[in-house]
Order: sequence, then structure tokens, then C-alpha cells
Amino acid sequence: MIISCSGNKETPFETTDQELESKNSITKSYFGTTKEGVAVDLYTLTNSNGVELKITNYGGIVTSLKVPDKQGEFDDVVLGYDSLSSYLEETPYFGAIVGRYANRIAQAKFTLDGQEYSLAQNNGENTLHGGLIGFDKVVWETEEIQTDNEVGLRLRYLSEDMEEGYPGNLEVEVHYTLDNENAFKIDYKATTDKKTVVNLTHHSYFNLKGKIDSDILDHFVTINASRFLPVDNNLIPTGELWEVTGTPFDFTQPKAIGERINDDNEQLKLGIGYDHCWVIDRENDDMIIVASVMEPTSGRIMEVYSTEPGIQLYTGNFLNGTITGKDGAVYNHRYGFCLETQHYPDSPNKPEFPSVVLEPGDTYQSSTVYKFLVKEGE
Ligand code: BGC
Repeated sequence: MIISCSGNKETPFETTDQELESKNSITKSYFGTTKEGVAVDLYTLTNSNGVELKITNYGGIVTSLKVPDKQGEFDDVVLGYDSLSSYLEETPYFGAIVGRYANRIAQAKFTLDGQEYSLAQNNGENTLHGGLIGFDKVVWETEEIQTDNEVGLRLRYLSEDMEEGYPGNLEVEVHYTLDNENAFKIDYKATTDKKTVVNLTHHSYFNLKGKIDSDILDHFVTINASRFLPVDNNLIPTGELWEVTGTPFDFTQPKAIGERINDDNEQLKLGIGYDHCWVIDRENDDMIIVASVMEPTSGRIMEVYSTEPGIQLYTGNFLNGTITGKDGAVYNHRYGFCLETQHYPDSPNKPEFPSVVLEPGDTYQSSTVYKFLVKEGE
């Protein structure tokens, strides 16, 4: 096909499709060195539309994700730091791979086949997000992947038997891809040589405004869930499944995060806002749309697809302005939200919840897509 651009009718110029199409790319640069002296890289993945995703192999952390708004302006829509040293210092899991067990396990212990396993109590009496040195704080092996339609990174990590108290040598593979339809896909796989528990997720804090200088309360969220898991005062699910109808937890239709977040509601008080797992309405573990978010001023939309039975909406309730992130941005209360696809919190202690047990010979598999669009007609 030949396209004529008639900016000047006298001298039209012609260009072919091949010249118009920009190619996707992947580049690697040095990001820093860990305290143990391991050099860490930063990969920049760019698709053919100019969407740019930066990932470091320290914690598999997504450090930056630039997507267009309704005017075609690209902005970074995730919270994080400019340098590795800040991630090493302290991070509320910005952009990281979370495991071996995402979310909380009550009292930091569980029993498998009559054997009790003790984990680190890094969240009151509970264990949170894999313990003291979870998958967010280790260096992953990487391999670059590039085809015409996508760029990606394959990350591998061997979590040794009894690391952070979990049984079994767990071989974990996380495959990140960015395709030319602006979909960022994460595929997780794991195998073990001893019976264990696994629950992996991704922990980006999003603010779809792009200029991260205000909270996320005006973002409209939809969650494909008619039930959620109420929690106790340690944010551990009670084991019940509550209907969302008539409550501030009803996101079955698009609703601004801020519309009811300050309601006089016991569950919201326990979470200091939303910090709960919703039970996705699904019949099997096919990849389906589980949530979507729309930010009205930028027109950005993020759709979330997953194979997982649950999704944690965390509205950045513990951000309090003490963290200064990229480009000097101060991350105040509720400046970012997470949508963490996962199995339910504390499943190892809740036999009534879908199983998180992985047996030798079986493969743990999970996939999630964050797809970026803009609001039509604007
Ligand atoms: C949890 C929050 C926690 C945050 C940062 C989220 O996944 O649900 O309770 O504060 O991670 O650690």
C-alpha cells in the first residue's frame, strides 16, 4: 500500500508501510549492584506503538511503564524509584514479582501432610509476600525474547528447599511480554521436588493519570466479582465469602474508588480503605477479563485479564508521603492502587479455599494481562 501525505499539494511525498512501521525493541543497561556485589540490569522493552516497559532483574521489578493518553501523550503510569539503591533500601513491593506466597499467611505458619512449617513474621504475627527475602528481593536470571509482534523477558529463579521456611526446591519461571496491542502479559510457571504451596502475583502500583501528583480516588474500577473475602483485624480472611451487593465493595458496575472508600463500614476501617480480595465470578480457570480501570482526565483504560480465582484491590492505604519516588514525586496516601491477581490470602490454612498446594510432577501455571487502551470517542 502507498500512502500519500498531502501536506503540500504541489509536492506530495510517498512512503511505504515498511517505512511507517516502527519496530519493537529491547535494550539492556546496567542498573546497579546489590549489597552482595551482584550487578543488576535494567531492560527497556518498547513495542511498535512506542509503549515502553522497563524491568530490572532485581525482583523482576517493573520500574516504569509509559502508555499513551487520549491525546497520544505518553506518561509513566506506575510508581517506583529512579535507582536500584532505593529499591534495596525500602520498598512497599513497587512493581515486583511477589512470592513464594503472595499476600498473608496467618500466624506465619501452615501444615502440609501433618508437618508444620514456620515462616518469618514480617507483618505483625503474619507472614506477608514471601517473608523477609521474598521473590521481590532476589536477582533473577534473564533471557530476552523478541518476535515481530512482541518483546519479552524470561526470568528464572530457583527458590531452594526451606528458603523462607517453605518446603521444596521450587523452580520458578516468569515470562513478561509486551505486544503490539499494548498488552503487558505475565505468565508464571513453577515446579517443585517436594509438596509445597505457591501463590505468585505482580505488585505494580498504578496511577493512570501519569503525572503522579494526586491520589487515585477518581479512577473508575470494575471488578467481575459478586463476592469478596471479609478480613479480621490482621487483614486475614475470616473464611467467609460476602456478597458485594449494596456494599462499598460492589464494583460490578464502574465506580470511582473514592465514591464509598470513606463510608462508615467495618471492613473499610480494617483495611484503612480497600485492601481485600475479591472472588472472581468464573466457572473454570480460563483467561477472562477480571477487572478494568478508567481514569477520566487522561482517558486511559487498563483492562486486567487473568486465570486466577481472586484479585486483591489495594488502594495504597499505607502510602503516607514518606517515600519520594521517580523524578522527586512524593507518594502520598492513596497515590497508587494495585490489582494483584492471585489465589486467596491464607489459603494454606483454609482448606475450603481453592488449593495452593503444588505437588512434585505438577506444574503451577498462572497468567495475567494488563492491557492499555484509551476511552473511545474522546
Ligand atoms: C497488601 C497490603 C500491603 C501492601 C504492601 C498489598 O498487597 O494487600 O496490605 O500493605 O501489599 O506491602
